[in-house]
Amino acid sequence: MICDFCSSPNIIASYPCKDFTVGDVFGSEGGWTVCEDCMKLIETGDRSRLLHRSAIKYFKVNFPGQPIPDELFRVVKNWIELLHEKFWENFESKEGIA
Ligand SMILES: [Zn+2]
Repeated sequence: MICDFCSSPNIIASYPCKDFTVGDVFGSEGGWTVCEDCMKLIETGDRSRLLHRSAIKYFKVNFPGQPIPDELFRVVKNWIELLHEKFWENFESKEGIA
């Protein structure tokens, strides 16, 4: 398992979440697993930092070592923002992972 926000392998908790879709493109089933850093941002409600972190990590994971074009970054960040908005609407309090 990896963190559903930043792809870190260091998972420490899971947030049960209702299933949802974003348009016809993306969807989510079941809970979202999180690393410690992302969990802190969720627990403090820091949506903008969580969003920025997820967008940056997306490029680091998928295009390692490459520069991030501004326009593409904005597009990806917008999509992630739609996903995150649904997460914020649908998640429940976290559960620890043993
Ligand atoms: Zn994370």
